[in-house]
Amino acid sequence: MAGDASELGPSLQPGGSAWDGAEELTRLMESCRSIAGAANPDAFNQRMGLAMEQLFTWSAFVVIPGDGGMESLDVQGGRRLGAQGRHFFAEEIRQSSRAESVTLPHLRWQAEPATGADARGAPSLIFPFTGRGGRRGLLAVLPADGVVPDAGARRLVASLAQQAGVWWERWRHGEEDRRTARDALLEQLPCGVILLDEGGRVAALNGVAGRLLAQLSGPEPAAGRSMEQLGLPLGSLPRNTEVEFSGCRDQRRYTLRWDALPGTGESISVVLSDVTAERGAREQAMQAEKMSVIGEMLSGVAHELNNPLASVLGFSQLLLSQCTDERQHERLSLVVAEAQRARRVVTNLLDVARVRPPERVAVSLDELVTSILALFAYPFRVDDIEVEWHPAPNLPPVSGDRARLQQVMVNLVSNAHHALRHCDKPRRLIVRADEAAGRVRLQVSDNGGGIPESHLDRIFTPFFTTKAVGAGTGLGLAICARIAEEHGGTIHVRSQVGEGATFLLDLPACRIPAPRQVKPGAPPVEVAGLRRLLVVDDEDAFRQLLQEALSEHGTEVVTAADGAAALEEMAAGSFDAVVSDLRMPGMNGMEFHEQVKQRWPAMARRFVFITGDVMDADVRAFLESCGAPHLPKPFGLQELTDTLARVALAGHEGTGAVLDFPEGNPGETAT
Ligand code: ADP
Repeated sequence: MAGDASELGPSLQPGGSAWDGAEELTRLMESCRSIAGAANPDAFNQRMGLAMEQLFTWSAFVVIPGDGGMESLDVQGGRRLGAQGRHFFAEEIRQSSRAESVTLPHLRWQAEPATGADARGAPSLIFPFTGRGGRRGLLAVLPADGVVPDAGARRLVASLAQQAGVWWERWRHGEEDRRTARDALLEQLPCGVILLDEGGRVAALNGVAGRLLAQLSGPEPAAGRSMEQLGLPLGSLPRNTEVEFSGCRDQRRYTLRWDALPGTGESISVVLSDVTAERGAREQAMQAEKMSVIGEMLSGVAHELNNPLASVLGFSQLLLSQCTDERQHERLSLVVAEAQRARRVVTNLLDVARVRPPERVAVSLDELVTSILALFAYPFRVDDIEVEWHPAPNLPPVSGDRARLQQVMVNLVSNAHHALRHCDKPRRLIVRADEAAGRVRLQVSDNGGGIPESHLDRIFTPFFTTKAVGAGTGLGLAICARIAEEHGGTIHVRSQVGEGATFLLDLPACRIPAPRQVKPGAPPVEVAGLRRLLVVDDEDAFRQLLQEALSEHGTEVVTAADGAAALEEMAAGSFDAVVSDLRMPGMNGMEFHEQVKQRWPAMARRFVFITGDVMDADVRAFLESCGAPHLPKPFGLQELTDTLARVALAGHEGTGAVLDFPEGNPGETAT
């Protein structure tokens, strides 16, 4: 039974069971003040109930704000009411809400109906109220059993209805402001935040969460859907614990943490983040760390290998140059070729570990591909993989960092190897290199399983891998793409499932010729203008080698095992050039050079340095500043004599014809 406060008259009149003059009026005002001060709907209901208790006897009531924003509402009281009583009360509310155009939420009763107490008392008192925005609501009260509300009681309830209207209006405004502030705050957060309502459905989310959910479960709007429907079953995840997982659709890494929102009953907050880049950076750092450890280890190994290799290569070349017997010559040529092969393996390992400094030189792809394929020769043989290599004749070099370009080739070839190992024979790897329009194009093709179309645009992104955990990092092709870009080039793929894959690397051609390769077995040549040479090296075999090789052609070779001994030799006699190791016990090559620079400055420009292993930053800086040529061990005798000839020639040009220094102190005539 709906009423209206206006039909009850302009003011409350004394009379009736619940109305008793000034005292009641005071109580009503107190109640109104108390209701007005409620901070949230729960407090509001509680205070409303208390006020009605004091002013009126009721068994159930509900205030329906009528703004359509509530899914369900608790009916206060009703504990002593049976199912039938509840049914009648709800039915009357329903009819009034229809008549007053109030959107009715689902009504929830506080407790199970008590048995045997279905009898209902007087009809309900239902009063509509309006807020300032014109939105209507209802206050519905069911008087207690046996209470018949008189006009005073009806006015009382009508007053409380108006009070409820005022409170709800204020709350709604406040709520809207709070929501706006909350949404603005959520938008500031770098992670995705999703708020779920009591039913577990998405009630609010920030932009980041919207994007992440679209990545994870498709573009349909998330609002109103449950997390299960979005493919994130929270029920199976521990509360308030960060869980990391991979997206099924995109292979990206995400973290999720959920918890109940404090002070909101059943509402839940979900924090979702895309941590792919972070994890990527971490893995990259680990990878870099690993590479640096490998690099350090390799530089030690290289040092130990390069010194004996220098002697093997040098002596075999020396013997070869002196050999007249055809069979011996053949055998020695083989020794030289094998020593050079061993040298290439060491160099390749160092380049792959990237312990060499970046550079921009003319790089012959022909040589580079040949060396990488040689590195894979054994695994290819084991896996029965046929390899074809077709470099175009007169292929121009490319300008770049040899080590970085080698890394590209290693990645492409090892990916092809992986693909071929898992498919039927015949297994073929075909590498071609051609020139067109000022660019060099390298094609690496295999007839392995190929790449599904859906993966084609993702394989160059970091951390995309289809290989088992531990077998792939997903970094190889990303690194290739970056190196290609660094060199002003591009890398593409063509592939179809079942038909293999072809990677195409395009690099700008370089017009400067690549450095000449020393052919195995080339005999050492005489060094013009080199009459007296000082060799400083702590390796006995190496000193002996240079002594034998160079004195053959008339150069007098004096040797010293360290810098201090070398200084003594220099003080005792003049030299046309100095060949010095850099790393030596006692006075090292750099300190030795510094001493010479101070005492005989002209001689400081006639040094050729030998580096036995990977150069560290100090050594690189030293070599750059002093400008002296350097040769990494092991080198061919031809390379050494070529370099010495240049140094001797520069000596002639720079100092005139005078190469001899006055007895005992070359520094005095230095210019
Ligand atoms: P990883 O080798 O560590 O997986 P890459 O970036 O080198 O990382 O390769 C990414 C993915 O590209 C591989 O996991 C594989 O699925 C695919 N791929 C690369 N090369 C080939 C190839 N030759 N044949 C088939 N798939 C390939």
